[in-house]
This record gives sequence, structure tokens and C-alpha cells, in this order.
Amino acid sequence: MSSDAEEEYLFKVVIIGDSAVGKSNLLSRYTLDEFDLHSKATIGVEFQTQTLDIDGKEVKAQIWDTAGQERFRAVTSAYYRGAFGALVVYDISRRSTFDSISRWLHELNTHSDTTVARMLVGNKCDLANIREVSVEEGKSLAEAEGLFFIETSALDSTNVKTAFEIVIKEIYNNVS
Ligand code: GDP
Ligand code: MG
Repeated sequence: MSSDAEEEYLFKVVIIGDSAVGKSNLLSRYTLDEFDLHSKATIGVEFQTQTLDIDGKEVKAQIWDTAGQERFRAVTSAYYRGAFGALVVYDISRRSTFDSISRWLHELNTHSDTTVARMLVGNKCDLANIREVSVEEGKSLAEAEGLFFIETSALDSTNVKTAFEIVIKEIYNNVS
């Protein structure tokens, strides 16, 4: 048995984006496989931990949810401190949430002092019938800003696991 079987990794990942884009439901879908149609934004910072196996190593992701702070346009610097990854989320059925992405990226850059693995997430892809942001627009913004890109649905689970795991694996690749 090699000694690095003992190694442990703990990565902080933050989820940011406008109110009601589905941040809390993406987190609960990923870590608990739960979805809440009537979820209420609550105040305070919370996180959930998810353990993954990467290359036979135990990797723990501590995933933080704003829990409603973003409604006041003031996510604290403590929220971002020490984050190695970020999911930057908009709602494909609400253009205004896509227009906010550059502001969220700016805020993330301002608060981070390391390389942050960043994924642009177009959530609620189950609402394609009332889509306001095309897949191409999401892709081209991500390319321009150097982000990964994916569309997800916390409601029907599409790509939720993939979105988190691409970010966590990228962090692992960055540090190992
Ligand atoms: P947050 O404010 O960004 O944390 O957003 P929430 O997770 O609280 O979700 C806001 C609302 O959008 C809730 O009514 C959720 O049920 C709904 N929602 C979240 N994700 C999805 C999704 O993928 N599809 C659909 N149709 N609704 C969603
Ligand atoms: Mg929330």
C-alpha cells in the first residue's frame, strides 16, 4: 500500500448567482438527491460536504450555499475565502440572471487569491419551452471568460452531478 493512500483532500467550492436561479436546489440535488419546489431563501451561510473517489484518493468537497445573502447584494468575503472552485449559476428562463453573470465573476475575482476552477451553469434546462438564453449564448460567454459550461436541471437531475464533479476534478488536477 502506498503512503499517498493516506492523503486527504478537502476543497471548498462556492455557488453564486442571482436569487432564485436554483443554487440551493442544485446543492441539495447533488448531496442529498432532493429537490424542493417551494424552497425559501433563508439567511446565513451553510455548506454540505460530499466525498468522491478520484484516482483512488478520497476527496471531500465542502460546498457552500449563500442561503439567501445574495438578495442583499452583499455576499461576505468570508463566503469566498479559501474557495478553489465555483459554480456561477443563471436561470435559462430569466435573461436578467444571465446579464448578472459578469458582476458575479467580477465579485469572485475580487475576493479570490488563488486559481479558482469555474463552471458557468445554466440551470432549469427543463424549462426549455420558456427559454430566454440560448445554449450558444451560454457557451460563448463561457469561452470568452475561460469557464467550463454546462446546462443543468435540479428538478429532473440533468447534469447536476457532472457539473459539480467537473469542478472538483479540475481542482484536484490543479493541486496534485
Ligand atoms: P436560489 O435562491 O438560487 O437558492 O434558488 P432555489 O434553489 O431556492 O430555487 C428557486 C426556485 O426555483 C424554487 O422554487 C425551486 O423549486 C426552483 N428551481 C430550482 N431549480 C430548478 C430547476 O432546475 N428547474 C425548475 N423548473 N425549477 C427549479
Ligand atoms: Mg438559496
